[in-house]
Amino acid sequence: MTIAPDHAPPREPATAASIFAGAGPMAALCSSYAWASTSIGCPDEWSAGLRAAAALVLAAPTPMVLLWGEDATQIYNDAYRELMGAKHPTVFGTPVRSSWPEGWHLDWELYTRAWGGESVMVDDAIVTVGRAGESSDASFTLGYSPARDEYGVIQGVLVAAFETTTLAAAQREARAAVRAKADFLAVMSHELRTPLNAIGGYAELLQLGVRGTVTPEQRADLERIQAGQKQLLGVIDDVLAYTKLEAGILHFAVEDVPLDELLTGCCALVGHEARKKKIDLRRSGSVGGLAARADGEKVQQVVLNLLTNAIKFTNPGGIITISCQEERGERIDITISDTGRGIALSDLECVFQPFVQVDAKLTRAQDGTGLGLAISRQMAQRMGGDLTVVSEIGAGSRFTLTLACGRCTQRAVG
Ligand code: ADP
Repeated sequence: MTIAPDHAPPREPATAASIFAGAGPMAALCSSYAWASTSIGCPDEWSAGLRAAAALVLAAPTPMVLLWGEDATQIYNDAYRELMGAKHPTVFGTPVRSSWPEGWHLDWELYTRAWGGESVMVDDAIVTVGRAGESSDASFTLGYSPARDEYGVIQGVLVAAFETTTLAAAQREARAAVRAKADFLAVMSHELRTPLNAIGGYAELLQLGVRGTVTPEQRADLERIQAGQKQLLGVIDDVLAYTKLEAGILHFAVEDVPLDELLTGCCALVGHEARKKKIDLRRSGSVGGLAARADGEKVQQVVLNLLTNAIKFTNPGGIITISCQEERGERIDITISDTGRGIALSDLECVFQPFVQVDAKLTRAQDGTGLGLAISRQMAQRMGGDLTVVSEIGAGSRFTLTLACGRCTQRAVG
């Protein structure tokens, strides 16, 4: 299908007058300019390709400069002129090299690539611009593309500029705000942790009978105090870890992590909780010698979070299975499956969002912040892996932590 142009195309090739028709001050300047003394000559003698390109630049509402010929003679439009400051009008119609002896405000390397036939785009290019008589740095996305004549031969380079200064400033501010939040929370968490540790410590002293005999009722109360203290410490740790991940300031010490040892350690840590709930915690498959390329502490944190959730959301009599599988020597899948209550298909992705708890009323009874999976997935991704889930309501869930393969440790097959 062809689209009819608004105006019927002229029968004759564009004349100099038609290039400059209807456009603004730069078109007027271009029309009256003494082109005869330049390397590209007078508009009446310009090739059809140069005329078309010049017309396009002069009519464009966004900043554009056309650099034509071997010496890159500059033709720019009204929007680009605003960026030129005191350089305008001296540099108009002159070669780039002679008009920017102090160093061109654009990029020679990118210009050369476009001259060679490449279309190049660069984000966050800092360009010195002159506005309201003052020179300042501004941020741009710049597109350099080859400009061809009517025979398809590259005769110049067209540079289109999109200013991103406001966006870049907003991004810088947002990053600074996230960083400030992380710093604030780090201080806050320290301030909260000190009295919380004291509460835990004194409760333990009382429990040990240091202040006198403890009645069974008092012991039960002390246990509640300690459980509450641990829960609060957990919340503080989660919020701090999540904020640090968000700000990109959580450090990862990547090394070869032997998985047998790590998974055995995790099972031992949650074993008591599983037994208390009469849940069968199993290891399946062989992990012997397998290693992941990751931060061991972070992997342990993710696996413990997945195991704790599995225990939390599985009823007594249920089964939790941990397995580990190497995929083509490239990646390792650590899978934690449970026969618990499962997650609805529509909620599967939401559980990785921060502060999301599916069926919050039910989950509240189990405590938690809704940050565990968000932290775990981000940690996995920061280590070059991922965390995914498949689940079915009433049938159970399977979370898979994928990590890069590390160098195998020479351990006996376990
Ligand atoms: P929380 O601290 O609340 O456990 P998470 O981010 O670890 O936060 O989990 C978010 C939500 O995902 C949980 O509140 C729960 O609704 C759901 N969930 C996580 N793991 C499981 C699981 N093994 N079985 C069923 N639901 C789960």
